[in-house]
Amino acid sequence: MVVLMELKGYAGRILWVDLSNGEVKARDTPEDLAKEFIGGKGLGAALLYRLLEPGVDPLSPDNVAIFMTGPVTATGAPAASRCVLVTKSPHTGTFLDTYAGGYWPSWLKLAGYDGIVITGRADRLTYLYIGDDGVELREAEHLRGKGVYETINTIVRDVGDKNVRVAAIGPAGENLVKYACVVCDYHHNFGRGGGGAVLGSKNLKAIAISTENREVEVARPDEFSKFVSEVSKALATSEEHEWARTDGTPAVVDWSNEAGIMPTYNFRSGVFRFADRINAEALSKYRERKGACYKCPIACRNIVSVRRGKYKGVRLEGPEYETIVMAGANCGIKRIDAIIKWNYIADDYGLDTISAGATIAMAMEAYRRGLLKKEDLEGLELDFGNEEAWIRILDYIAFRRGIGDVLAEGVRGLASHLGGDAWKFAMHIKGLELPAYDPRGSFAMALAYATSDRGACHLRAWPVGYEAFGNLDPFTVEGKAQLVVRDQNRNAAKWSMIFCDFYAVSAEAMAKFYTLATGRELKKADIYLIGERIWNLTRMFNVREGFDRKDDYPPYRVMRETLKAGPAKGKRLPKKDYEKMLMEYYRLRGWNARGIPTKKKLRELGLTKIVGE
Ligand code: SF4
Repeated sequence: MVVLMELKGYAGRILWVDLSNGEVKARDTPEDLAKEFIGGKGLGAALLYRLLEPGVDPLSPDNVAIFMTGPVTATGAPAASRCVLVTKSPHTGTFLDTYAGGYWPSWLKLAGYDGIVITGRADRLTYLYIGDDGVELREAEHLRGKGVYETINTIVRDVGDKNVRVAAIGPAGENLVKYACVVCDYHHNFGRGGGGAVLGSKNLKAIAISTENREVEVARPDEFSKFVSEVSKALATSEEHEWARTDGTPAVVDWSNEAGIMPTYNFRSGVFRFADRINAEALSKYRERKGACYKCPIACRNIVSVRRGKYKGVRLEGPEYETIVMAGANCGIKRIDAIIKWNYIADDYGLDTISAGATIAMAMEAYRRGLLKKEDLEGLELDFGNEEAWIRILDYIAFRRGIGDVLAEGVRGLASHLGGDAWKFAMHIKGLELPAYDPRGSFAMALAYATSDRGACHLRAWPVGYEAFGNLDPFTVEGKAQLVVRDQNRNAAKWSMIFCDFYAVSAEAMAKFYTLATGRELKKADIYLIGERIWNLTRMFNVREGFDRKDDYPPYRVMRETLKAGPAKGKRLPKKDYEKMLMEYYRLRGWNARGIPTKKKLRELGLTKIVGE
């Protein structure tokens, strides 16, 4: 691999693809930005901020889709096989970063690119082929309306290389479902926020990558591989990662149900009476084996298959905790084999399972309340626990048929369709549906969701680990803002390196990986500083789009309705307590009372050259 940058670890080039005129060219990775923002989320955010005018329609040719890897991607560093898709979200109108693992992200880097910047819109459905022998845009009209699996299989056959790796959208992306995702390697999803709809709006069906290269040059190879080997050995035995090596994320079902924070029946309860039918033990009966992303020693993935019964004939890499709960307990579904089937279909259509599950759950509550009737629902009795209706509605959503056209807009769109008080049970922040931790049993989680740059997200900070699953009192607000700020900063750097969420990598270890890979020394404090810079940049992106304090609140149900059972029984997060946390958060961040970063803070972080004075 030719490295054009002084910094090692990077491929040194970014592929720029203009779909409007078919121009494809490689440009140098901007080293100044790489030094200030690392890669992944940070570098993607810096490029997006510069490339987009404020107010751009996310589904217009003027939006930009940026796939970006990091300096340790595909180097052999553990759990570093990921890529981010950065764009303006059509679901929220905010900054969006959404991640996937598998093999495709590593193939991008190994093919010689740190990332891909996609602009414009193709006249006809197209796919991008990237190979060691060149890059080209290819006709994809024959794939119109096809699911992700058939799309990938067809492209693999067309390319004639079994090692080709494909990221694709399904019908949901083509039909601009607001929470359509991009799926790579069949079941690894750039899940949240509607990245699939952005590709759909650009008429880009897939990106296929074929490469023989398996090496990335690092600055200090001997020390790097010694460190990789030490950390990998520790990960293969450490107690901290045992849950991932054994059960994977389905382990969290029991933890959250016992803590009383498992969203159930559209967040009307935090405890699901049938949790033992959808937990890790229930899933283990369907597990063929464990699976791993490229060179990951943790191997948290579950390869499952259903061999008998009503749902037989399905094989899946999944389902993850978030899907099990948002599509399962939250919709009153009591069978893990049904969830496997639902997940299989959702991946094929290219739907984010969190938002799809949350939207269906809200529609179920609307049905219970008589706000949606059978005749509004294409004859479906979309009630909690009705597996048949819950599976069939996916088809209506992915193709925007009938009521599916409304549900394709997510819970905020459904609330506006229903009118009246329906907004009170629409569980979202900034338009993004809440994931599977009820903040009434983990107050700091409300702050983490509400201040997240892409809307309600559990991956920027996860204080539930200290509160509901740890030793901190989950029902107090004092001192919690500090935890959220620290984790958001560290994770902004983590998503820029890019490490997997499930590797509990410390800031020290990140600094060491970066130093040995790139040859430029970073310390623990630098990791936090860069993370803070990135966090403020994405905030400024959102501020430029009109977001501020008014958008930083949890949903009505969290603040006004109490949970009825479990350890969080009788709990809600009163607005005045939430406000205390929020104001403390702004103060610690150096933001004003409207939640806008001050000039002083922006100068201190060296951001004024990007966002202006
Ligand atoms: S921990 Fe799991 S999801 Fe993360 S990189 Fe490893 S196998 Fe993939």
